[in-house]
Amino acid sequence: MTAQHEIASALGRFSDPAYADTLQKMLMPHAVYLLFLFALGACVGSFLNVVAYRFPLGKSVISPPSACPKCNTRLSWRDNIPIFGWILLAGKCRYCRNPVSIRYPLVELTTALFFAGGYALMFMGDIGPIVHRSLVETNAFGIDVVKPMELTLAWDWPALVFYLVLVSFLMAASLIDFDHFVIPIRIPWAMFFLGVGLHAWLDRQGVAGSVSIDPEFAPMGMMGIGAGVGWLISMVLLRTGVFKQSFAEGSPMLDREVAERDETGSTGGPVGVSMPLKEYSKGEVRYEMRHEILFLLPPLMLAGLLGVLSMRVEAVSDVAMWLTQSNGAGGAVGAITGAAVGGLLIWVVRVFGSLLFGKEAMGLGDAHLMVGAGAIIGTGPVAMSLFLGAFAGLIHAVVLLFGSRFRSLPFGPYLAIGAILSFFLYRPFWAQYERDILAFASMIGDLFG
Ligand SMILES: [Zn+2]
Repeated sequence: MTAQHEIASALGRFSDPAYADTLQKMLMPHAVYLLFLFALGACVGSFLNVVAYRFPLGKSVISPPSACPKCNTRLSWRDNIPIFGWILLAGKCRYCRNPVSIRYPLVELTTALFFAGGYALMFMGDIGPIVHRSLVETNAFGIDVVKPMELTLAWDWPALVFYLVLVSFLMAASLIDFDHFVIPIRIPWAMFFLGVGLHAWLDRQGVAGSVSIDPEFAPMGMMGIGAGVGWLISMVLLRTGVFKQSFAEGSPMLDREVAERDETGSTGGPVGVSMPLKEYSKGEVRYEMRHEILFLLPPLMLAGLLGVLSMRVEAVSDVAMWLTQSNGAGGAVGAITGAAVGGLLIWVVRVFGSLLFGKEAMGLGDAHLMVGAGAIIGTGPVAMSLFLGAFAGLIHAVVLLFGSRFRSLPFGPYLAIGAILSFFLYRPFWAQYERDILAFASMIGDLFG
């Protein structure tokens, strides 16, 4: 065997699940990974605190180094130790003794728990975005048995990468949404591009976290491409002035902001976000929606067109099928389709809700947030996360109805929770109920066809 052959066979073994399984068992125990991810999460959480504070104010998130907001003293490294720094200083600034909000260590702790918890769920509890796959093993009687393959770090580490990116971005967006009722549009778009790039690079058949479209839904991938191209067309038409921006005279005011204006006379709007606000009548809100309906038409129509073509035209159907088998292109298209499904579903709900109630229903920031999340978790999970998010949001809304005079609430954090839950639960859910759902779908199909 030549040297090249040896290298080739060694590399070949890396893509063999059985080999990955042995490798995993040889690697260090879970505790080391859990500790590492907890520490990493605490540091990322510390950075997210900075992002959530500075980003909406338009300040750089990198420099200058953090300082106490009260006395402006630069903080040294020991004041900046995540979680423990705050505990050691008993929640007070070392220099001016003013209290430091408990929110900072809480965000750090939450991120740390999310990071370590995700690892535990996937690689200790075997709950996660596992795809259909099985392992052939020879048992004690020399008979080959097919058994389902568990999630292992050596084989499924890309799923952990996707999850950590997902949690970090959603946490930043949720913190800002919670404070300002706005999601800065650059956060979900950074998530989108990162998602498409990472999936094009890391997705492999049979590896957890891959977002390639399943073969039975092959036309979905083409519909995703259609939606993407349609969105580009709409953007060009908007930039060239053919389409008009909705609410061009200012973002619609929320109940909270109207109440604030009536009390204080100020129309400051979200702190630090220089965005004009305007109070719209119900009629005006409905009227503004026509701009958004126009904007949505090209993506929706092109998605529909490509969906029909990939069911009727063999060449298009072949491309759709090829996409479900290809790693790089399939991953990128899966991410784009996830983004399109997340964004379009929320946006359509927004348009219908606003037409129905004459009040802005769901922010455009929510639609963008699901564009970003969809690019990371993929088509099925993002659809599931809308249901979970809506359910959680509904419970909170009912509570607010009785407890608070302001009925507007940031929806972003609920969608974020829904997206994280779906990342873990979609595949197990689908594996359990696939037959029932498909049977139900074909029954409905029979009723109409
Ligand atoms: Zn201070």
